[in-house]
Amino acid sequence: MTVKESDVSKDSVKITLLADNEASEGLEKEHGFAAWVEVGSRHILFDTGHMGALQGNAARLGINLKDADLLVISHGHRDHTGTLDKFLAENNHAELYFANQIDIERFWYKPDADTYGMPEESRQALAALPASRVHSIAAPHYLAPGVGITGPVPRLNSFEDTGGTFYFDKNRVTVDGIEDDQSMWFETDDGLVVLLGCCHSGLSNTIDYIRKISGISKVRGVVGGMHLLQANEQRLEQTFEVMTGWNADFLIPCHCTGMASAIKMRATIGSEIVSHGHAGMVVEAGQLRQ
Ligand SMILES: [Zn+2]
Ligand SMILES: [Zn+2]
Repeated sequence: MTVKESDVSKDSVKITLLADNEASEGLEKEHGFAAWVEVGSRHILFDTGHMGALQGNAARLGINLKDADLLVISHGHRDHTGTLDKFLAENNHAELYFANQIDIERFWYKPDADTYGMPEESRQALAALPASRVHSIAAPHYLAPGVGITGPVPRLNSFEDTGGTFYFDKNRVTVDGIEDDQSMWFETDDGLVVLLGCCHSGLSNTIDYIRKISGISKVRGVVGGMHLLQANEQRLEQTFEVMTGWNADFLIPCHCTGMASAIKMRATIGSEIVSHGHAGMVVEAGQLRQ
């Protein structure tokens, strides 16, 4: 994961995990996800975590969230949009990118769980933003040359689902396909590096889509929530087979991958390729090819 001999004309990509279900010693952990992306001199925040680990860990790591030029939201679940209000209170210029609609009521599949959509405070903060800072996309979009976000991901294969059934209503009648789920990618000298939020669209579906959009088939690395928490043995087996076929340099399961599935992934694909993500982890993702 080391950056090759530096080339001043190219932007290097560095991803620092700021909120995750696991954390380095001295950092907070929570059920949520957020990552800080540095692309050359630009700063992109990807998701805002759940309960405030983002702000605490950013401060501990010397990362100033005011420096974010862009905020990309992977989807409107509360473990990715919690503290959006706090972020917007301190950052008055970052432009927001998300797919479809993220500020809707939604519910978890567990009957005892309360609403799982964006928290009310975050919703209000989003609604108060000027339209010029808010971009809801319905198709893939390049934020900069070599830096893309997928928008809604086509669900084409038969073995992946949203990872549990989610709903739009409290009575759990109307199924939520989480059509707003999106991921981000970087086109580096050594192939695609992909950053996932929860990956409700499915890992294989997501990577296939990014390969198609970018025209790059080589997958250098994947980092983020892979939502294999509830995956059965058959799905895990098929997923690991697809992942092995990527021949990636690094695979970093985080957040909703689930520790049991992440451990199986490491045992199946290899400990030299698979490492467990955690808040505080830094991924030197290489240089953008340009
Ligand atoms: Zn989710
Ligand atoms: Zn999540």
